[in-house]
Amino acid sequence: MATQSLYRRYRPRRFAELKGQEHVVRALREAVRTGREGQAYLFSGPRGTGKTTTARILAKVLNCTAPVDGEPCCECESCLSVEKGTSYDVHELDAASNNSVEDVRSLIDKVSLATPGRHKVYILDEVHMLGPGASAALLKVLEEPPPHVVFVLATTDPQRLKDTIRSRTQHLQFHLLPSDTLAEHLRWVADDAGIDIDPSVIDAALEQGGGSARDSLSALELLAATGGDVSDHIDLDEFVAAFTDSDTGQALAAVAHAVSMGHDPRTLTEHLLRHLRNLFLSLMAPELVQVRHDRLDELASLARALGAAGLVRSMERLGQALVEMRFAPDPRIMLEISLVQLTRDDSGDDTGALLARLERLERTVREGSPRAAEPAAPVDPDTGKAVLGGRARRSAESKAVPKGSTATPEESASPVMAAEAPSPADDSETAAPTTEPAPSASASPLDLRRVIEVWDSSVRAGLKPLVRALFSAGEFVAFDPPSVARFRAPNPAHGARCAAHLTEVAAALARALGTEVTVVLDDAPEAPATTDSPADDTTEEPVDPTELVDVPPADVPTAVDSITRAFPGAQVVERTD
Ligand SMILES: [Zn+2]
Repeated sequence: MATQSLYRRYRPRRFAELKGQEHVVRALREAVRTGREGQAYLFSGPRGTGKTTTARILAKVLNCTAPVDGEPCCECESCLSVEKGTSYDVHELDAASNNSVEDVRSLIDKVSLATPGRHKVYILDEVHMLGPGASAALLKVLEEPPPHVVFVLATTDPQRLKDTIRSRTQHLQFHLLPSDTLAEHLRWVADDAGIDIDPSVIDAALEQGGGSARDSLSALELLAATGGDVSDHIDLDEFVAAFTDSDTGQALAAVAHAVSMGHDPRTLTEHLLRHLRNLFLSLMAPELVQVRHDRLDELASLARALGAAGLVRSMERLGQALVEMRFAPDPRIMLEISLVQLTRDDSGDDTGALLARLERLERTVREGSPRAAEPAAPVDPDTGKAVLGGRARRSAESKAVPKGSTATPEESASPVMAAEAPSPADDSETAAPTTEPAPSASASPLDLRRVIEVWDSSVRAGLKPLVRALFSAGEFVAFDPPSVARFRAPNPAHGARCAAHLTEVAAALARALGTEVTVVLDDAPEAPATTDSPADDTTEEPVDPTELVDVPPADVPTAVDSITRAFPGAQVVERTD
């Protein structure tokens, strides 16, 4: 395949090749054929609908030495020079980047120069971006244009153009292409370019292009570049199903799968947003959705299942995530937080649930780049095993299991569910000793390795969410025989937070190890007395999030930091079931 992009390679050269803009084509060809072309046109419409392409065809035919029935010959010297962008008769200005008075003046100065062609054509793209001075200069020349000059003003936003300018133009509106027209065009291009692709790739390109010929061709090209293997595509319906079923595990598994396939979280979020918009439109204005008819039915039934309110909420939350991603060191976490929220109605209030989730994410970040060794599905922090059926759809059978019932195989299979929504019976204020393996007296001697082992395998998971979150940011670094385990926090301020919970952590460790253990802070104040933290900061004391935000930056933000960023103004409180 040539290196030239499909969009450039298949750019229309004649009016007849323009897709979906028949009304514009008819008006312009008729004007040219009868020699009654206007002196100022305004082409408006969404991006990628052919405005500047049409302007160039118009410039071509107006200077063509052998026009046929209102079309350029595309063979004469003039036509070729316009196509190559070397014509002295055609001047283009992108007002988005050249919008000063000087830019417009220097362009207009050329109006009076003699040139070889019959017409001089000025194409001003994104003309609504012109500054006030430049607009005034343009208006002046539009009021009394020299007879051989034609202006084509192109804009995606005609409302922002001064009325005085607009009223001096013939306004032609460009439309997004109907999906059938665009699908046919994409198929033809793929065929002509010798790209062998599955029809589903055309569908995917159509959905991503949103009715713009340029965007659809770019999407087609990208999809074709990845081999056009439809199994590589992200199944966005899976996310929607996860929202509908409130299945956090499925949503996160879908992210893991997409990332493992090489999709970056930002683009994935954009695609998901566009998909949700299509779903929303399928309910409200089906004629605006750029998909095949049978696909439209599928979208509509997905949309009905989630509901209009659910769709709006999802779009709002993901839109917000896109903004947050600009400042986030790992955009994937922002996407995952949104998905947790969207699949759990209570997550806005359930800080413990999010803490547990964030802790897991945090550990992934700390233990290496999430992209370096990407599991295809979420991993149970306790067993290290993938716990979900990957992207496997829930069977009808499992869907029949009542949502509220506890300990269904499905719920216990999901790390998030398991960590966040235990039944009241096993959600206790203390560590759950029942899950500890009874260590035998002849177990390996107590040393740092053994402490870390029980810590990772059972103790940490059994701690209260807040304590767990605090201690997950640090690590055990030394063991002083016979019984002192040294814990290092990422920074002194964080250490001061941990200090209030040392006894509790030591007790949990002792239960797991079957012997007395003392936990002390390493390289950090052993007691909060040296800091502003109140000495009587008991475990039941609510935490002031603002205090945590002001902690000096550490390499790894704590879960509480992340939570506080995700919910500005939120209060972190202990769960009291
Ligand atoms: Zn020609």
